[in-house]
This record gives sequence, structure tokens and C-alpha cells, in this order.
Amino acid sequence: MPNTSTANQKPARKKRPPLKERLERMGLAGEWDYILHLPLRYEDKTQITPINELVSDVDALVEGTVVSSNENIFAKRLEAVIEDDTGSLQVKFFKYFPGTKELFKEGNKVLLYGRPKPAWRGKGFEMLHPNSKLSKPTHELDKTLTPIYPAGEGIQQQWLRKRIQTAFLNVDIKDLLTEQEKAQLNLPSLKDAITSIHYPAPDANLEELQNKTSPGWQRLKFDELMAQQIMMTLSRKRRESLKAPILVTPVDKKHSLTGQFYLSLPFKFTGAQKRVWREIVRSMESSVPMNRLVQGDVGSGKTVIAAMAAAFAIDNGYQAALMAPTEILAEQHFNKILEWLKPLNVKVVWLTGKLKAKEKNQALEAIENDANIIVGTHALIQESVKYKNLGLAIVDEQHRFGVEQRLALRAINSEGLMPHLLMLSATPIPRTLAMSYLSDLDVSVIDELPPGRKPITTKIFLLSRKDEILESIRNELSQGRQAYWVCPLIEESEKLELTAATVAYEEIAAALPEFKVELIHGKVSTEDKNAIMDRFKSGETSLLVSTTVIEVGVDVPNATVMVIEHAERFGLSQLHQLRGRVGRGSGKSFCIALFGDKLSHEGKERLKIFRENSDGFVIAQKDLELRGPGEFLGSRQSGVPLLRFANIDTDAELVTKAKKLAVQWIENNDPRAEIHASRWFKNKEKYLEA
Ligand code: ADP
Ligand code: MG
Repeated sequence: MPNTSTANQKPARKKRPPLKERLERMGLAGEWDYILHLPLRYEDKTQITPINELVSDVDALVEGTVVSSNENIFAKRLEAVIEDDTGSLQVKFFKYFPGTKELFKEGNKVLLYGRPKPAWRGKGFEMLHPNSKLSKPTHELDKTLTPIYPAGEGIQQQWLRKRIQTAFLNVDIKDLLTEQEKAQLNLPSLKDAITSIHYPAPDANLEELQNKTSPGWQRLKFDELMAQQIMMTLSRKRRESLKAPILVTPVDKKHSLTGQFYLSLPFKFTGAQKRVWREIVRSMESSVPMNRLVQGDVGSGKTVIAAMAAAFAIDNGYQAALMAPTEILAEQHFNKILEWLKPLNVKVVWLTGKLKAKEKNQALEAIENDANIIVGTHALIQESVKYKNLGLAIVDEQHRFGVEQRLALRAINSEGLMPHLLMLSATPIPRTLAMSYLSDLDVSVIDELPPGRKPITTKIFLLSRKDEILESIRNELSQGRQAYWVCPLIEESEKLELTAATVAYEEIAAALPEFKVELIHGKVSTEDKNAIMDRFKSGETSLLVSTTVIEVGVDVPNATVMVIEHAERFGLSQLHQLRGRVGRGSGKSFCIALFGDKLSHEGKERLKIFRENSDGFVIAQKDLELRGPGEFLGSRQSGVPLLRFANIDTDAELVTKAKKLAVQWIENNDPRAEIHASRWFKNKEKYLEA
């Protein structure tokens, strides 16, 4: 693109990315991807239904002659009546092209495909916006049902159908199961199975196809589950063949670092924390590298557990590292750890990409020598970082990291041992997902909040009521409370996001002149960021306007109001995280979600779920229902394969069968295991090490 910008150029419209990229976003790259891009539903255009046999709400193909046609130009409406030998049908278009008007000229014979509904006026049925074309004497009806594919991103059904047909020609759908295995499992061949789903015969059982229980679907789900079971078995084997440092609980518990740290805390662990702590200790006492996820709602006390685990590693002469996805969050952890462990003579080192050369070299040197615990961002996994003897790697908000990043931190240490890995997440994984793709992961759940937490009241308002909201915030602030104001997420551009935040800040500061209002965002330097956060923590600043940088980890108990502008643009778990920033002290807390006037149906649903639920687990489960597992936990980008077709809950019988055969193949060193897994999982290697 020529780089000639002029002053009065129109702002660039968001351009649609190239076809290849859009296809890849839909998971369509190789031939197998197309083969496995399965229909959402079908249209039956294999036979014509006589008008008097139409059934309400059952899509049908109808052939008839146009007997009347009326156009209402002002209302932009076209109404026609067609007739066959058995009856008449009303047809309505509320928006149409000139071609449609032409098509529905009196006397024309037309073919319509659509959904009959009882007519609004008169007797019989009407169809709104049917697919219509001229009926020609030479016209042949379809031989199979027409598949309707998941599309979107400007990709047409017609194009997809052709492309999938091509894939069928290009791929030799070899069956890896022997005839005997198929017979035993009572499953059809893979080719027959896939063909029956893409191109069902006219007499196929549509209900079985739609609810994915037809023999073809059973076979496909079985293969998917097989692939997953193979991967999980291999992954577990690989991990179990590696050795981790065996940690032992010091004999003199009270005088160990772990013991002293616990005694120094101003609180006791909750029951849930105690249980999780025991689970962690048991894993770290084993020579099999720990692969444990600690899951707990925002504020449930995961960080202190992680610090205890670090103390346990240090007690045994090993280093621990804690990696967080953002600078602010890492820093929050660093300060906490300093506060907790420095008085106990632990050497805590800070490392991020933003350190100046001299500080960075000092940090690197300490990491190679006498650092006990290292806290930081991605900088922790750069090549220049050489750990003396890492025994425990802790990854906070693990789902925000890619698989490679998590792996890098737990690389084999200098003693040839693999560090234990502890992951933390406030985004709960629903049981079905945990059992399916994360079964090589041990999950510990902190399902209890520390005592004294107050429920947060969530309210939803139209953005245009900002002035009223500001009034009630003034009220809250004048009682000595503090508030957050989170500005809208603008996905297209960080720059736009910043502009929006600046505008909001100026507006809010002007509306609340008697209070100190500050703005924080991703472009603020570390130094300034610290200063801003310090002023907020100390209470000098009453209201903090921010972009989403404060999403995680900020801990200011005196803050009681969280305003989220354009809440409809955030995901549910993100909203829940943001809300978790308040309700940490003794004051009654509020979360105010403001939405723009253009709310999609899904957006409305999401906000409703958010207002009505305070439990992160319930929210995550509903989020999953709303969005589907593909989006969950950013699993797409992390390369962790999910089940697309099978369902762990409803296909339990298939899971058992798949597991049995998978184990059998692996025990027998059957080469089919490898081939089968590669077919399903493109990122096989990544998954194995995840
Ligand atoms: P999370 O990381 O799960 O969001 P944190 O570990 O940051 O939660 O804990 C939130 C706050 O609660 C911190 O100030 C922490 O010191 C405190 N806290 C943790 N465990 C307890 C407990 N058992 N009793 C009281 N306060 C606790
Ligand atoms: Mg936390």
C-alpha cells in the first residue's frame, strides 16, 4: 500500500483479512480440516412437498405457479401467492432485490425452499424469505441432503461445499481400524462414516444425524476420543520417565522457612487452602515432576499457597521462579513475596524486560548464584537467564501463556532434573474440559473464600446514564472509599483504546473536581505506573481510570466500586476478574457494568449471567455453554486440542472403548497410534509436552 497519507484522508476502514487467514481462523488449513468441517444441519431438496402436505416449521421444497404478486414500495415489501395442484402458499419478502420481483411475476413457475408458518392473514401457510428460483423443466432435484456448514467471515456455503468436495477427491480416507476391530466395536468404516455425515442419503435418519448419534457420528467420535487417549497416554508416559527433585519436609517444621512463613501470616489457611497445600506437598515429595493446576476464584488465596510452595523448594536448597503475564501483576506478586519472605532472609529477585542493563545484569548474576526466588514476566524464560538450580516453576494465570512459554520455564535444570510445575488460574475449567483434554494435569481447587468477604452487588446500566453513575460515585468517594473505572476494550487498536481512556479520564476528572483522579494504561512507564499505583494504594488517589491493564491482581481493600464501560465487549471471565478487584475489604462493594445501546443477543445474555452470578465456576460453565469450548481458556492459541465432536459426559461408553484400544495400541508399540494421533492433532509435539 502506498504510504501517502494526506490531512483529510478518510479514516481507514477495518479491512477484511485475506481468505487464507480467515479460513485458518476457522481452523481450515489442510485437506483433513475440510474433511472434518462437518455440517451444522441439512436442507432436504431431494423431493418436492405438495402444498397441502406442508407442516408448520418443517423446512420444505415447494414448486408452484405465481398467481398474484404485490409490491408495497413504501414498506419495501413484496407479497406473492403461489399455487400447485393441492393448494396455495403465501410468500413474503421484507427486503429484496429487483431480481426477486422479476422472479415472482404472475404466471412464473417457481421452486421455493423455506420454513412454512401459519399464515398471518387468511388460511394455510406463509413462507418468509424462502430461497427461490425459476423452476425449469430440465431441473433435477438433489440426490442427497444439502449440508449447511459453519461459515462466517465472508465465506459462502457454495464455496465451502465445493472445497469440501475437492478435499474428498484429494484425501485417501484410509481406515486405521482392522475389519475385526470395526466388527468388535460395531462401527462403520471411516470413509463411510464421514461420507454419511457430509452427504446423507435421502432416506437417512435426520434426527440421528442432527443429534450426532448416527453410526457415522459414533465412528467419528470414537476416532477423536482415540486420538485424545493416545496423546494422553503418551504424554503421561513421557512425564513419568523424567525425574524431578524429591523434596522432603524438614524434620524441624517450626524452624523451616515454610513453617516460619506460615506462622508469620496474619491469618490461618482456609480448609480449602489446607487441602490444596497438602496436595502440593505430596506431589513435590515425589520424583515424578509435578504438573498441577491450582484453580480458585479471584481472591481465594492462591498467591500465598504459591509462596508456601516456593518456601518448600527453598527449604530443600532449590530455587523457585514465579512468572506472571503482565508487568503489573508480576510486580504485585513481587511486592507480596518481598513483604512475606524478605524478613525471613530469602533473596527475592525481580526480572522483567523493562529493567535497565545494569539492573538486568545484576539480576541475571543473582539468578545464577544466590537468588532464592525469582519473580517476573516473560523475561524469566529468555535464553540469557541461567538458573542455578530451579526446583519449582510457578506460572500465574497460566491460560494467558502459550504452551511453549510454560514449557520453557520448566526446562531441565542444571542437575538434569525437571522442575516441578505449579500453575495458578482464576478461570475455572469446567469438569468436562478438565477431564477431557487436561487429564494429564492434576487439578487442585480452592473452593472457599477467606472469611469476611462481602458479596458484591452488580448493576447494569445503559451508558447514557453515566452522569447518574458519577453522582453515586461521588457519594461513595466522599465516604473515603475508592473506585476503579475501566475503559472499553478496543480490539482493533491499542492506540484507539488509549485515546478513549484519555477522553474518559478527562471527562471523569472534570465531573469530580474535588477528588484526585488518575489515569493508568499500558503505555505508562514502569516508574510512573508504580507511582500511580502507590498513590492509589495509599488512598491519595480516589479514582483510578484505566484501560484493561488492571484486569488482574490489583489488591486495594478500600476500593469498593468497579465501573466497567462497554461491559458488553468483555468476556464473562474477564468481567468476573475485574469485579474481583473490589469486595476485598470491609465495605459494601458495587460493580457497575455500563453497556452501549447496540447489544447483541449474546451480549445481553452475557451481562445477565454476570449480574446474576458471583461464583466463578458457574460463570465459567455458562460461558462455555454460550461460546463453545473452542474459545475457552484461549485454548486455541495454546495449541491444546479440545474435543470437537465427542462429549465426555454423554459419550462415556465410547470413551471407555477408545481408552481400551488406545492403551492396547501403545502397549503393543503399534505404529497406528502415532499415525492416528497426527491425523487429529496438528500440534502433537506441543501437546505431548504440555
Ligand atoms: P488470589 O491470588 O487467589 O486472587 P490472593 O492470594 O491474592 O488471592 O489473596 C487475596 C487476599 O486474601 C490477599 O490479601 C491475601 O493475603 C488474603 N488471604 C489469603 N488467604 C487468606 C486467608 N486464609 N485468610 C485471610 N486472608 C487471606
Ligand atoms: Mg492472584
